[in-house]
Amino acid sequence: MSLHTIALVAHDHKKDALIEWAHANKDRLSRHSLVATGTTGKMLSEQVGLEVHCLKSGPLGGDQQLGAMICEQAVDMLIFFWDPLEPQPHDPDVRALLRIAVVYDIPTASNLATADCLLSSPLFAS
Ligand code: PGA
Repeated sequence: MSLHTIALVAHDHKKDALIEWAHANKDRLSRHSLVATGTTGKMLSEQVGLEVHCLKSGPLGGDQQLGAMICEQAVDMLIFFWDPLEPQPHDPDVRALLRIAVVYDIPTASNLATADCLLSSPLFAS
């Protein structure tokens, strides 16, 4: 049985880092229900072997779908490796997702160090 629902998103230049992190944390991640934007989810499934529910690709509405899930309290943690060095065509959606995650007090990681902290936190395990 899945403990929690973890949402995963990575912008293109951050996807390799997320995949590497997911490999390193595969056992822990596989205990949870995973949801991701389209391309990120496909990579997690094909390259890491995780079972992931894939939404639309981010620029095609995947970030908005995740935001709606957060509003419905269907997401417990957000791992979102956004790119601080590259403008995104769907920047309004990115901002909206980050905003709604704060509104609903969803633990959110934007980098490897925070993702490690969140996933290994005893608070999350309980
Ligand atoms: P993607 O979307 O996983 O479909 O690439 C991520 C994003 O750019 O928000």
